[in-house]
Amino acid sequence: MNRAGMLLLDIFFPNRCDCCGERIPYDRLICDECAAALMKQRVQYQDWAAGRKDLPWENGAVLFSYEETARTGVLQMKDGRRGFSAFSAKLLAEELAELLPEDGRTVVTWVPIVRRRRRIQGYAHAETLARNTARELRLPVRDDLLLEQPSVTRQHDLTAAERTKYAERFAAGKGMLSGETVLLLDDILTTGATLRRCTELLKASGAGAVIIAAVCAAGRQG
Ligand SMILES: [Zn+2]
Repeated sequence: MNRAGMLLLDIFFPNRCDCCGERIPYDRLICDECAAALMKQRVQYQDWAAGRKDLPWENGAVLFSYEETARTGVLQMKDGRRGFSAFSAKLLAEELAELLPEDGRTVVTWVPIVRRRRRIQGYAHAETLARNTARELRLPVRDDLLLEQPSVTRQHDLTAAERTKYAERFAAGKGMLSGETVLLLDDILTTGATLRRCTELLKASGAGAVIIAAVCAAGRQG
């Protein structure tokens, strides 16, 4: 796009920072103030993982604590805004470049969202994050490895509801693996139950290793 075109876009459709709503130039993902605030919210995956036993994946990366600027960014990401998601994907790619094997056998996937819910939300934010991260890392994506099933548990079926944990709604897709490393993306790392279930499914489908990555870690509760 030429300069005049950019100028017109800027007048009629101003680009705004996802985290604070301030106007920013078209080539920017979020504003400088929010970027600086986010750097103060950086957390280490190793701190989240410390003391958590039997994690089924091999390694992980996480960027921010789930509060303040990062929390606003994630909420905007879920709403379909793309600036904070793209900003996070770049940072995650930098972290992950150090962790991933260099054997050319890594594929990228994400915690899936059931079709019905996607129709309502109109947007699959974990997929966008994963596709952005894959592009940064020049890795292929796989959309055939995991799926989220519509809930089979009825509300009145209490015993079944008690038995069926939230994470059990995920199932393996049709795709198979033969020892590849899978990079599995989600927005927030909380208890890890969702990523745990998805990792187990990926390994049952033939993943040699799973590396998880999330934008935020939401404390140690749960
Ligand atoms: Zn901002």
